[in-house]
Amino acid sequence: MATSDGVLVKPPKFLYSLQSELKLLQRRLSRKQKRSKNYEKQRIKVARLHHHIDNTRKDFHYKQAHALCDAGDMVFMEDLDYRTSAKGMFGKHMLDTAFGQFRSIVKYVCWKRGKFFAVVDARGTSQQCPECGGEVRKDLSVRVHNCPHCSYRTDRDVASGQVIRNRGIKLISTVGQTGMESACADDLPGTEVTQSRRVSKSPERSLRLRRERSAFD
Ligand SMILES: [Zn+2]
Repeated sequence: MATSDGVLVKPPKFLYSLQSELKLLQRRLSRKQKRSKNYEKQRIKVARLHHHIDNTRKDFHYKQAHALCDAGDMVFMEDLDYRTSAKGMFGKHMLDTAFGQFRSIVKYVCWKRGKFFAVVDARGTSQQCPECGGEVRKDLSVRVHNCPHCSYRTDRDVASGQVIRNRGIKLISTVGQTGMESACADDLPGTEVTQSRRVSKSPERSLRLRRERSAFD
């Protein structure tokens, strides 16, 4: 993760180590005879670790989301993530899911803490200068943004984050003038709350769960 404030966060090491532990357990499972007692035991071990990894990642995502809300009142995120899926650290699918989950959690935490959240078109964010708006072509191996037009220099991902921030601010500042409030309100925190309240008449816990689930969609 990179923010427009210049914060760079790498996925924690324990997620990687759990990942290799999972591989080990899955390999052991594949050597057990199906429907045997040992197979069942091993299957439960794999399931438990999956559960643990999910929880650990979710916990990390929540902490990051709160850190974002601590740092500002508006959060803009990119609509799709091309860059992480191209890196293929755990394989494309898993990362995409994790990124989608992170975005849902950020959206939820923003709503919960009364911060503004919106998703911004991310096309070409890495090829633009956040300071002067000029085009700065760079492929994935170039980790530093160095603008030849205005000589602005920063980390590549931070520059992308700043372009996203600029686009987000532009998005909300033009909404009022063009009368697009209703279109933009889809992403405003709180719009899904009224829906989930309408459908649920169950006790507090299931209400909360349902609200969380609908916030995650
Ligand atoms: Zn520039």
